[in-house]
Amino acid sequence: MRPDRTDVLIVGAGPAGSSTAIHLARQGRRVVMVDRAAFPRDKACSEYTSPETLRHLDALGVLGAIDAAPAQVLAGTTVTGSLGHALTGHFARAGGTPFRATGLAIPRMLLDATLVDAARRAGVEVVEEATVTGVHRNGADAMRITLRPRHGTPPHFDARVVVAADGLRSVVARRAGLHRQGWLRRMAFVAHVRGVTGMGREAELHVGSHGYIGLNPLGNGVTNVALVVPEHVASSARGRPDDFFFEHLAQVPGIAGRVPRHAFTRDVMVTGPFDAMSRRSVADGIMLVGDAADFFDPFTGEGICSALAGGEMAAGVLDAALANDGPIDAHRLARYPALRRRAFLGKWIVERMIGYTMLAPPLFDRAVGRLQRRGMADMLIGVTGNFVSPWRILNPVAMAKMIV
Ligand SMILES: Cc1cc2nc3c(=O)[nH]c(=O)nc-3n(C[C@H](O)[C@H](O)[C@H](O)COP(=O)(O)OP(=O)(O)OC[C@H]3O[C@@H](n4cnc5c(N)ncnc54)[C@H](O)[C@@H]3O)c2cc1C
Repeated sequence: MRPDRTDVLIVGAGPAGSSTAIHLARQGRRVVMVDRAAFPRDKACSEYTSPETLRHLDALGVLGAIDAAPAQVLAGTTVTGSLGHALTGHFARAGGTPFRATGLAIPRMLLDATLVDAARRAGVEVVEEATVTGVHRNGADAMRITLRPRHGTPPHFDARVVVAADGLRSVVARRAGLHRQGWLRRMAFVAHVRGVTGMGREAELHVGSHGYIGLNPLGNGVTNVALVVPEHVASSARGRPDDFFFEHLAQVPGIAGRVPRHAFTRDVMVTGPFDAMSRRSVADGIMLVGDAADFFDPFTGEGICSALAGGEMAAGVLDAALANDGPIDAHRLARYPALRRRAFLGKWIVERMIGYTMLAPPLFDRAVGRLQRRGMADMLIGVTGNFVSPWRILNPVAMAKMIV
């Protein structure tokens, strides 16, 4: 096989790309994974992982390394509405069959680099600092990706199939006409701050009148602070993200006065707009995983889990598709969207219910109060954490308890 030709070419070495790559390499497939960044690289993220995410990390063989590094144990989450109602849910009391009684706050610098190292050890060829600019068919049974020229990297790679794991603004999904921008259009501002007061063993989410704020304890006195606002509100941050960040923190009652101003251990990173989804998660010679396939909102904090799980599904379907010669058309990949629907549909509905209810903060506040009073907070954290079935909430009895 030529050095610039492989079975599977994965664009993006985040959790979705690495998960797909490791599972495929274990099945003996020849995999090249390309990323525009050099690892370790950072990513705007609240860095919250539920017990179910840890189950996937264990299956990928990296949980030992994560546990040995400085990562903060999380007991669950507290959600506070705009009028002060709050709920606290703990993983250990949520029911279902959690992998562990706790989650972890894992810095993305550590998590993503650990996964990339594991991919290399599994036999994946990882090409860093190579930006993919396009994808097209090259002959009857090959796909070609083009790269921004850089010393030592070929200008293109050919593969039987291309996996788009290049995140929220996926170039591959756009070039293939699969990308669709949702209408919610939120922006996020994320920093690491030392000395945030009042942090316990839970992550915190505070909903305000213009979006929400997440606090996630990273250990050693450092907290991940994430502000999420509609894009039209974020437009006034241009050229002054730090000032904008603190002005908005000061407006939310549960946050005001808790986040010291001159104590960044990592500057504000800005990302968005989201939500974005794909029209389809497969096309001829192309498969979408992770945020490239679907990303709604970080509130429920489980994009990493979906990315890891999606990678495992993608690898299983690809392995079967690669077993026979000939072009890998969308028909051969059709089991993948079906698997995604079965695994994610209920969670997608819950995420969207939460995301849209937040557009009416008083209504959201009332629902938070009801969930706490009716003893449903732990279950909700289990559902958003992917280890309690979403259909425990998506049924008439549970819905009535939340609304009436
Ligand atoms: C503000 C915010 C907070 C979040 N908080 C959480 C949380 O607490 N917990 C959680 O589970 N999820 C959270 N998420 C979601 C989570 O970050 C994503 O779902 C997850 O990173 C998806 O992984 P991925 O591999 O699909 O994409 P990414 O992690 O974005 O990785 C994509 C990779 O593709 C590379 N790439 C992009 N374009 C190109 C190109 N043209 N050529 C080559 N390489 C390219 C990038 O460099 C990157 O390494 C949050 C998201 C946001 C925005």
